[in-house]
Amino acid sequence: MRLLRLLPCSELSAVSGAALTPALTEAWPLACDSHRQNVEYMFGIVGIPVTEIAVAAQAAGIKYVGMRNEQAACYAASAVGYLTGRPGVCLVVSGPGFLHALAGMANATINCWPLIVIGGSSDRNQETMGAFQEFPQVEAGRLYNKLSVRPSSVEVIPAVIEKAVRTSIYGRPGSCYIDIPGDFVNLQVNKSSVKYVECCLPPPISMAEHSAVSKAASIIALSKQPLLIIGKGAAYSHAENNIRKMVDFCGLPFLPTPMAKGVVPDNHPNCVAAARSTALQHADVIILLGARLNWILHFGLPPRFQQDVKVIQIDICAEELGNNVRPAAILLGDINAVTKQLLEEFSKRSLKYPSNSEWWKRLRGKIKNNEERSKGLALQKSLPMNYYTVFHHIRELIPKDCILVSEGANTMDIGRTMLPNYYPRQRLDAGTFGTMGVGLGFAIAAAMVAKDRTPGKRVICIEGDSAFGFSGMEVETICRYNLPILIIVVNNNGIYTGLNANAWKEMLKFGDPATCVPPVSLLPNSHYEDIMSAFGGKGYFVKTPEELQNALKASLTDEQTPSLINVMIDPQSDRKKQEFPWLTRSNL
Ligand code: ADP
Ligand code: MG
Repeated sequence: MRLLRLLPCSELSAVSGAALTPALTEAWPLACDSHRQNVEYMFGIVGIPVTEIAVAAQAAGIKYVGMRNEQAACYAASAVGYLTGRPGVCLVVSGPGFLHALAGMANATINCWPLIVIGGSSDRNQETMGAFQEFPQVEAGRLYNKLSVRPSSVEVIPAVIEKAVRTSIYGRPGSCYIDIPGDFVNLQVNKSSVKYVECCLPPPISMAEHSAVSKAASIIALSKQPLLIIGKGAAYSHAENNIRKMVDFCGLPFLPTPMAKGVVPDNHPNCVAAARSTALQHADVIILLGARLNWILHFGLPPRFQQDVKVIQIDICAEELGNNVRPAAILLGDINAVTKQLLEEFSKRSLKYPSNSEWWKRLRGKIKNNEERSKGLALQKSLPMNYYTVFHHIRELIPKDCILVSEGANTMDIGRTMLPNYYPRQRLDAGTFGTMGVGLGFAIAAAMVAKDRTPGKRVICIEGDSAFGFSGMEVETICRYNLPILIIVVNNNGIYTGLNANAWKEMLKFGDPATCVPPVSLLPNSHYEDIMSAFGGKGYFVKTPEELQNALKASLTDEQTPSLINVMIDPQSDRKKQEFPWLTRSNL
């Protein structure tokens, strides 16, 4: 009878066993098995007891990227899920490795992105004895995951993996955790006792009730001030073609949420992002496509919205429908399918919103006004530069189809308004959870996916100096795998604001830095670019628009080498004045 070692990654593989060397095929026979879950990428950090799993994953044809912190590895794996619709895997060791990855699991689930985390855990026969890195991982995983399980035996691992992959992508996507005790990893089992499972079917596509579609069309037909809000659920569902048709056919003003930028190009004449507050505040009907009425959309409540705004809510998750605002129509289903249903209904009724309405005039007036204010700031010649000047030059030089990763406070907020997206799923940022520290992991994931699917596409990662610090050592990962990522650190010496070198020196005269340095401050003039050159990439330190332009040109021309441009800006540079304070509290 044949005995074999069953390693879980073999069940994840999408790749034919033909590529394997005979020796490896013999060592990990399941790598050649046909029961596969179409998983292509694994990120992690090896150690006891998971090192063999990473080696087996590579043998099975899964691409394994070794990272420097499990948190960044987990962010990377989750971004693969969003970008490809198939979960990436994060592989972590027991105890602390698992705990570091919790942030990534929470971020994925809160973003509604599929993810699989495989965690090694202490041997079963040492449980409760104070085993090395022992921790109740399955229990701890429950709060962060759609599914948190330990297979009951080695034989059922294929079935558990299929269930986890399926759960991560069916319904509202999210994270799933699989716990593998150390003693499983090298266990020998009888091949005939393994319960093989075929690759799960693609997610079923659900459509809205016909009556709800018809009701939605009637509400839109009567609207005087309609607004289409496009969320990242729409980007995830690949609904761009239908949504573009809808905008063109119906003439509706649209507003993307941060990661939905590019579902319809930002330079489309119906994009009202530059009049965001006005559009939200005065719309009488809102068609909400895959976006939650959470803090990002000010809960859908006054003062940011009309008290009696009619919301037509479209979402794949039934429990989401009606959150914070009672909708006028609810369309439960997949956005790509439901927008097709809506398009059919609109064309039957020739539903077209006039472009010369008072609403359009108001929105266009506001857009013009806001664009002029940003332009004024962008063209300022004074040094040190402000955010708007920096983004103006970046915008002029970066390719239209690059993937933009962005995080930081002002860096992300101002960058979002200044840097257009023209294609869907090409903007990754702090997301629903507002997580800082995701940038480098996301950039690594995007570069891995781009290398395989769209060779030559650039990944540009624009980071505040504080945001960069969370995962700065992943620059080594970027250089090790030779990923031609361009990192731009917009450096204001701090969190929100910082001090210049002179003010810093003066501050230190007051005594122990821990008692007098403002908590928002970071060391002035830090040479983050040296981190990149330390590992063989190219680093640039820039202070003027000309230096910035030259560094951008040089790093974009070199398609092989990772680079980092450290852009010094005015430590007191700020956003232009906003109509509403950030996180306006509802007055209801
Ligand atoms: P944003 O950050 O852009 O506002 P959210 O993450 O808040 O977006 O909302 C995304 C919504 O999209 C979630 O409520 C999720 O259930 C939904 N969603 C995800 N995939 C699909 C899909 N294929 N069809 C419909 N809705 C989806
Ligand atoms: Mg900063």
